[in-house]
Amino acid sequence: SDVQVSVLGLGAMGSALAGALVKAGYATTVWNRSPGKADGLVTLGAKAATTSGDAVRAGRLVIVCLLDHASVHEVLDPLSDELAGRTLINVTTTSPAQSRELAAWAARAGVAYLDGGVMAVPQMIGGPGASVLYSGSAEVFHQHKPLLDLWGTSAYFGEDAGLASLYDLALLSGMYVMFAGFMHGAAMVAPAGVTAGEFAAMAAPWLTAMTGAFQGFAAVIDGGDYTVEGQQSLEFSNLGDILAASSEQGLSTEVVATVQRLIQRQIDAGHGQEGFARIFESIRQPG
Ligand code: NDP
Repeated sequence: SDVQVSVLGLGAMGSALAGALVKAGYATTVWNRSPGKADGLVTLGAKAATTSGDAVRAGRLVIVCLLDHASVHEVLDPLSDELAGRTLINVTTTSPAQSRELAAWAARAGVAYLDGGVMAVPQMIGGPGASVLYSGSAEVFHQHKPLLDLWGTSAYFGEDAGLASLYDLALLSGMYVMFAGFMHGAAMVAPAGVTAGEFAAMAAPWLTAMTGAFQGFAAVIDGGDYTVEGQQSLEFSNLGDILAASSEQGLSTEVVATVQRLIQRQIDAGHGQEGFARIFESIRQPG
């Protein structure tokens, strides 16, 4: 491709993203605050820039993958003049508000801006299962989609630059709570001599099968009627036995008690006969 690309930030993720571009034949200039991290990429054919300013000047498209929002500003603030008229894609993990703030900063500086959230670990970049979520300039997304697709599946959510980060964090919230649920189950069976590995072999197919329930919950939530027939009721979804079995073994009940509280708030409000999906309302309206 004839797109001149610069990648700022060669940590674990930035190096993986830059590596995919270099291997695909993009003319790529790389920069990192501390020296030495560009060496492997230079061997593959990248050019190393001595300063961040040199890197920005070398690329029409500037990709940034730094630690956090503050480090992005620290690097880019002094370069707003150089960035004017260029395209910036920031795949550093930031909050929705931080993404919107950087988009506004870029607009003031005359920089076309696309925000990205990487849903993969560095080893997954360019392979199956990796995806990157984007929001901000639709034009930038569509123009550079062939390049973005080198990293993984590219999904675009709209002009509001905060959306990619919002989806990123929403998906991670589901992941962390599921992981905590797995850890809780592993802790419950450990005293019975079951290794975490043995439990993992049982839990993975079980939880995979349970994801089949998402669309049913979604239909109820989107329909706005939690009384529709055929659902497991909140009263039936009592986690008391799980809590008792956990505390009898001297385990923390925090993970499960959180879910029980979400259920109980709806029961207390008179919705015990309605579907389990109603805990969505406990989350939407904090007690
Ligand atoms: P690393 O810790 O490996 O790298 C951090 C990078 O940021 C380094 O290049 C570091 O430079 C640079 N940096 C930090 N502070 C500054 C600063 N003030 N000025 C200039 N450069 C700075 O992190 P990752 O590469 O793993 O992560 C990068 C981004 O990607 C993060 O936002 C992370 O959340 C996101 N991400 C990472 C994933 C992963 O699995 N690793 C998964 C999904 C997203 P130096 O070498 O000089 O310290």
